Amino acid sequence: MTIINPLPAAFINEISRSLPENQWTTDPTECLPYGYDNSRKLAPPQAVAHALSHEEVQLIVKLCCKFNVPITARGRATGTTGGAIPIEGGIVLSCERMDKIIEVDPQNRFIRAQAGVLNSEIQAAVREYGYFWPPDPTSAAYCSIGGNLACNAAGPSAIKYGTTRENTLGLKAVIGTGESIECGVLTTKGVVGYDFTRLLIGSEGTLGIITEATLKLTPIPQSKMTFCGFYRSLNGATQAVVDIMSQPVVPRSCEFLDGHALDMIRNHSHPGLIKAQGMILVEIDGTPAQLEQDKHAIENSARNSDCLDWRQAANPDEVKALWHIRKSLSPALRSVSPHKINEDVVVPVTNIPALLEFIHFVGGQYSIPNVNFGHAGNGNIHVNLLVDPLNPTLGPVANDALNEIFEKVIALGGTLSGEHGVGIEKRDFVAKEIDPPLMALMKRVKKQFDPKGIMNPGKMFP
Ligand SMILES: Cc1cc2nc3c(=O)[nH]c(=O)nc-3n(C[C@H](O)[C@H](O)[C@H](O)COP(=O)(O)OP(=O)(O)OC[C@H]3O[C@@H](n4cnc5c(N)ncnc54)[C@H](O)[C@@H]3O)c2cc1C
Repeated sequence: MTIINPLPAAFINEISRSLPENQWTTDPTECLPYGYDNSRKLAPPQAVAHALSHEEVQLIVKLCCKFNVPITARGRATGTTGGAIPIEGGIVLSCERMDKIIEVDPQNRFIRAQAGVLNSEIQAAVREYGYFWPPDPTSAAYCSIGGNLACNAAGPSAIKYGTTRENTLGLKAVIGTGESIECGVLTTKGVVGYDFTRLLIGSEGTLGIITEATLKLTPIPQSKMTFCGFYRSLNGATQAVVDIMSQPVVPRSCEFLDGHALDMIRNHSHPGLIKAQGMILVEIDGTPAQLEQDKHAIENSARNSDCLDWRQAANPDEVKALWHIRKSLSPALRSVSPHKINEDVVVPVTNIPALLEFIHFVGGQYSIPNVNFGHAGNGNIHVNLLVDPLNPTLGPVANDALNEIFEKVIALGGTLSGEHGVGIEKRDFVAKEIDPPLMALMKRVKKQFDPKGIMNPGKMFP
């Protein structure tokens, strides 16, 4: 168990003198809401600081470094792995008030913004210029770009447009020593020095606090087509995903839901939903003429002998209705199993059928209800074991099942997380994927950025 020492009085004095009263608190009732995230775990910080600028972040980190106080960055706490929870005490540095868009440069196709700006605010700011920023997590209306960068977030359109990493040109950050760094470029090419932009993206606040980002913009495609298919067997649905991804037309999204997910949606919000063992939702985008050609390639791959129904959304309302099926799953799951185990493993697309068959088999063996869905075009499957991990009888059983699933993912050439990150939830499984020499190197890199180990301690490493 981690022993949490009281914050040094001299630290509190210095920080209280440096920040306005409404940007700093040690009041336990005000600190409490900053101790949770969407993992539903709780560990209140000893203090909360609200920074408004890069300079204030630097001031706060320098003081934490001087007094050895742990510091955990927090965007909007929608993360699912406990990454923003200050499990070793210290302060939470909230970026929610760093909400300024600094510059939109449509000619050079970038936007520069502070870390606390919401993903949806970035989209709204660039839409009028005919652009979008491709990372599209389902939580876009609530999550910050700082959180997106720290977790390398992504959504359905990552198959075609990439994740946060592929859509970021540069960053400004404060590392664990209190030093300020600017990395990256304003251009779409650049190869001078090591690529610290890509290193900081996905580092979950363990190396530094991202204060500003230059995000690469993509033109909004002229038009889209949306399709959905239902399958009488799990293998029929997963094979359709494999076949779609094996032909040259890259879809904008290719989502998958298994039969358990469809049952749950039917019971929760869509009583008329077709009874099937799998569903896929596919979207293509481009010019109208191109789409007319592309749709045949997608249909040919999707309509296999197990396909019960294949349809194209005829109008925007039908598009909305199809996405509503997919998006009503998370609320349904939360209402049925509020403390479920929720993973986001990835395997090469051709191994999706083997992975899902294995998960269903393991679920049956351990008698654990499970629901599986996800961004299948990327091989990214959200595995939900409907068990409270803290349940004294079922928790350990679920952990054994999870262990088997993770081992299978690695054996199939996959990775333990596609977009949610490690946080505290997957920390103890990381060594399955990262071998000892690489782990040791990662720890040495961390030491360079954060010699005192104050940046989001207790996360990422086993
Ligand atoms: C309903 C729902 C749907 C979701 N769907 C998706 C999805 O489709 N795809 C996806 O990728 N994720 C999804 N998520 C997970 C989550 O929304 C993303 O991980 C998001 O990027 C987190 O952003 P945040 O601002 O809430 O960050 P937080 O939860 O506050 O923080 C997440 C991590 O980032 C670190 N961090 C935050 N800000 C900074 C910063 N400025 N500098 C350094 N580190 C920082 C924190 O310390 C923590 O480790 C979903 C979550 C919910 C609740």
